[in-house]
Amino acid sequence: MNSPDSHRFDPPGRPAAPGSGWIEVVCGSMFSGKTEELLRRIKRARLARQPVLLFKPRIDNRYDAVKVVSHEGVTADALPVASADDLLGRVRAETAVVGIDEVQFFDGRIVAVAGILADRGVRVIAAGLDQDYRGEPFGPIGALLAVAEYATKLHAVCAVCGAHASRSQRLVASEAQLFVGGAAAYEARCRGCFVDDVLVSE
Ligand code: ADP
Ligand code: MG
Repeated sequence: MNSPDSHRFDPPGRPAAPGSGWIEVVCGSMFSGKTEELLRRIKRARLARQPVLLFKPRIDNRYDAVKVVSHEGVTADALPVASADDLLGRVRAETAVVGIDEVQFFDGRIVAVAGILADRGVRVIAAGLDQDYRGEPFGPIGALLAVAEYATKLHAVCAVCGAHASRSQRLVASEAQLFVGGAAAYEARCRGCFVDDVLVSE
């Protein structure tokens, strides 16, 4: 039996033939290690000499426009794309693995695109927030989780009490669902310590 944090998923083989692809979703709150886990899976695919492409939505310009960056500073080169169809158009015939970070920022079309790629034989690994700053499902993530073959929920450490954190508490005064920011703008919180409101620090 897996513990709640036993999240490693490493498929035994490689996708190749049409119909033999699949979708993996890695989700959780901010700081839960989604990007680290995505990059770990991508690294193993590269070690296995599988042609890999890593994408991120152009909207996320935190730290670096053309890299996927974890909060620990681990980076990997990524292709920024403007839309799900932009992503689809860049996948090549030989591409075996497609990684997508911050997948919650795409619109619902990403669900169909991930399905098209998996049908073609591609292993799709999509990482992103499951909830927005109010604790509501974020963009296409719910639909993506529903159609994925494999789903992993990660947890951060609650910044208040140290329990498993499932929520991202916004610390700046903005009520837009999209507010890209790092450690100064958000902290991880468990259900009990999460406040369904914007907390403005003094
Ligand atoms: P995500 O992509 O889910 O936002 P990252 O993979 O970028 O997360 O970063 C995870 C790293 O964030 C952890 O390895 C840890 O070093 C750091 N970190 C900072 N604050 C926390 C926290 N409250 N809980 C867990 N990890 C944290
Ligand atoms: Mg991340």
